[in-house]
Amino acid sequence: MNEALDLSLSGVVGGKTARALEKAFEMRTVRDLLWHFPRRYANRGDLTPLVDLPVREHVTVVAQVVDVRERRMQRRKGSLLEVRITDKRGSLKLTFFNQPWRARQLMPGRQGIFSGKVSEYQGQLQLQHPDYQMFDDERESSASSKDDPTAGAGPQTAGVSAAESTELHQVAARAFADRPIPIYPATAQVPSWVIERAVAVALEGIEHIEDPIPRDICSNEGIFTLGPALELIHRPERAVDWQRARDSMRFREAFELQLALLDRRRRLGRADSTPRRPEQNGLLDYFDASLPFDLTAGQREAGAAIAAELAAPHPMHRLLQGEVGSGKTLVALRAMLQVAEGDGQSALLAPTEVLAAQHFRSIAETLGDSLVERLSPVLLTSRMPADERRRSLLQITSGAAKLVVGTHALLGDTVSFYDLGFIVVDEQHRFGVEQRETLRRKGAQPHVLTMTATPIPRTVALTVFGDLEVSTMRDLPPGRLGIETFSVPVFELPRRAARVWARAAEEVAAGRQVYVVCPAIAAGEREDGDEEDTSGEPPAADGAQATRPLISVEETLSELNAKPEFAEARIASLTGAMRPDEKDRVMRGFAAGEIDILVATTVIEVGVNVPNASTMIVRDAERFGVSQLHQLRGRVGRGEHPGLCLLLTAAEQGSLGRERVEAVAATSDGFALAETDLELRREGDILGSAQSGGRSTLRLLRVAQHGELIQHAREVAAELLERDPALESAPGLRQTLVREHESGHLDNLAKS
Ligand code: ADP
Ligand code: MG
Repeated sequence: MNEALDLSLSGVVGGKTARALEKAFEMRTVRDLLWHFPRRYANRGDLTPLVDLPVREHVTVVAQVVDVRERRMQRRKGSLLEVRITDKRGSLKLTFFNQPWRARQLMPGRQGIFSGKVSEYQGQLQLQHPDYQMFDDERESSASSKDDPTAGAGPQTAGVSAAESTELHQVAARAFADRPIPIYPATAQVPSWVIERAVAVALEGIEHIEDPIPRDICSNEGIFTLGPALELIHRPERAVDWQRARDSMRFREAFELQLALLDRRRRLGRADSTPRRPEQNGLLDYFDASLPFDLTAGQREAGAAIAAELAAPHPMHRLLQGEVGSGKTLVALRAMLQVAEGDGQSALLAPTEVLAAQHFRSIAETLGDSLVERLSPVLLTSRMPADERRRSLLQITSGAAKLVVGTHALLGDTVSFYDLGFIVVDEQHRFGVEQRETLRRKGAQPHVLTMTATPIPRTVALTVFGDLEVSTMRDLPPGRLGIETFSVPVFELPRRAARVWARAAEEVAAGRQVYVVCPAIAAGEREDGDEEDTSGEPPAADGAQATRPLISVEETLSELNAKPEFAEARIASLTGAMRPDEKDRVMRGFAAGEIDILVATTVIEVGVNVPNASTMIVRDAERFGVSQLHQLRGRVGRGEHPGLCLLLTAAEQGSLGRERVEAVAATSDGFALAETDLELRREGDILGSAQSGGRSTLRLLRVAQHGELIQHAREVAAELLERDPALESAPGLRQTLVREHESGHLDNLAKS
C-alpha cells in the first residue's frame, strides 16, 4: 500500500523543517503534508487586493514594490526601512528595523510574495519584518533553471541557433509566467513557500502513489487518480490543472467520508439488541387515550418509524429533528413507554439541570399517577442532595426505575442500569460523541434517539449525521398563535428601544410573563454557560464588537428594578452560576407564575416550557448565534397567548451580527433559518471545531457549497458497498476506513 505516505516527515524533508511543520500544523507524516492543500493560487501579475486585509491575521499576498525609504529612527538608535507595496489600488507598508540591505532586494517595480501578520499603525496597515520572496530571485531562478532550456550550462545544447534559443526562451518564459503559485495556509514561522518546497521534496521522493479508489470509479467520475491529483493540486502548470485536481481531491474527500459513514451505519445496524415490542392494549394505548390532545401528523409519523425500529432485533440510531415546540419530548416519552413494556429502562439525557428538572416534572405530569407508579421515573443530576441521589441510583440499579431523566451525571461510573434498553439525547448538539458512547456502554446495544430543535440543513445532516436515520417534524401542535419578532437597533432607533420596556410592562400588567436574556452574568464577564454544558455553540461574536463589554444579568436587574413601570413587577434572575436548588426554585416560581420577569442568561435557551410566558427580550442579540436566537424565541408563544420576541442590538447595519439578528426577525421557520445561517456563517464555522483546520478534518469540502457533490458521493459510495460489502475489490479503501475510524474523524464531525 501507500507506505510512502505514512513515512515520518523528518526522514523526508529534514528534521528542522519537519519540526516547524509539526509545531505549526501538527503534521507528522508525508500524508499530513500532502493533504495540506493550497488555500488559493496566485499568478504572477495578479496582485492580491490589499484593501480589506484582516488586522492581526497572518496573510500571504502577491504585490509590487512601489518605493523604498530608509530613515534614521528618532528616539532609538538605528534605521528603519519602509517599503510600500501595492496591488495597483491599495497599498501596504512593510517595515524593517536595522536591515538597510533589504533595499537591494526590494526594488521599486519588482513583484513578490509577502507574508506576515497585519498590524495597524497610525491608520495604515503594515507588515513588520515580513517574510518575502521576490519573483525574480532564488525561487524563480531555481524553478526556471529546470524548465528554461537557455538557463545554466547543461541544457544549452550545442547546435541551437541564437534565434531558436531566443524563441525557446520566450516560450519557457511564458509557461513560467502562467504557472500558478500555490498559496498555503501558513504561519509566521512557516511561510507559504517553505511548505511549497517541503511538498516538492516529498512529491519528488515518492515513486508511485497507489490509489485506494478503484479505477472504474475514477474514470466514471472523471477525476484524476490519486498521484496526479496530488501532484497537480500542489504543482500545477496551468490554472486548469489545479482546478481539476482540486475537484478530484474534493470528490475523494466526500466519497471517503460517505463511505465511512455508510459503513459505520451498517456496522452499527448489524449488532444484536433486545427487541422491545409494544403490547396490544398496553401502556402505550393507555397513555395515548389519556392525552388531552391528538398527536400531530409529524409525531405520528416519527413515532411509527421509531416504534418499528425499537421492535427490531438491531439497535436504532435515529435523529429526531423538529421545530422548537413541535413536541419532541412526547415522541420520546411514547418510545420510552414501549421500551418499558419490553422490560427495558430508558434514559433521557438533558444538557442542563434546568432542562433535566423540567423534563422530569413534565414527564411525571404527562404520565399521570398510575403510570408514574408503574414506571417509577427518577431524576439524577450531580448537584442533587446526596440522599436523593442515592435513592435514585438504587432504583436505577435495581431496575425499579423504568425511566431515568438526568444530566451528565448519568454518565458517571457509579451509575449502572439493570437493563438499559433505550437512550434519548435531548438537544444533541450539546453533547459529544464520547458522552453518548459512555451512556451507550451502560446497556447492551441500546436503541438511541437523539433529538435536536436546531434544524439541520440536509447537506449538513448528510455530512455530520450520515450514519443516522433521520425523522423530521415540521408541524407544530394546532392552536399556536405564533410569534412576532422584531429587531430593535438601540442606537438607531432609541425611541423604539425605550418602547421595549413599556411593552414588557403591559404584558406583565395583563398577567403574562417576560424573559429578558443577556449574554453575561455580571459586568465585565464573559458569556455564561450552564455549569454542565461542556460544548455548546461557538461564540457568535465578530471581532469588531469583541471589545465592548457585554450587557449582564446583574446590570439589567438593577436597571429594571429602577424603572417606575416595573415598580410592582416581581423580578428574579437565573444564571448558570447559581446553585441547582436555587435555580430550581426560581424556575418553579416562574412556571407557577410567581415571578413576572425572569432576567437570565442562555440557561433558558433550550427546552424550557412556561406557556404563560409571552415575551422574550434579548439584549445584545448580535452576540448570539442564529439557532440560539431561534431557540430563545421558542420559549414564548407556547400557550394560548401570541408570542413577542424583541431582539435588542447595538450592532451596526451590515455587520454579520446584525445580519443574524435580522435573519431571525425575518422568519420564524427554523428550517429556512438553518439555510440562511449556513450562508451567513463563514466557511470554517459550520462544523464548529471540525472544520477549523486541525488534523483529520474536512479540508476541501464545504457543506454550505457542496451539497450536490456530497449527495452524489454518497450514492457512489452506497453503490460500491452494495456491490462489494467487504470492499474486497478495494483493499486501499478498506484501509482508509480503518484509518478514518481510528482517527476519530467522524466523531469530531458530529461534535459541532
Ligand atoms: P420541543 O419539540 O421543543 O421539545 P416540547 O416537547 O417541549 O417541544 O413540547 C411543547 C409543548 O407542546 C408541550 O407543552 C407539550 O405538552 C405540547 N404538545 C406536544 N404535543 C402536542 C400535541 N400533539 N398537541 C398539543 N400540544 C402538544
Ligand atoms: Mg425539547
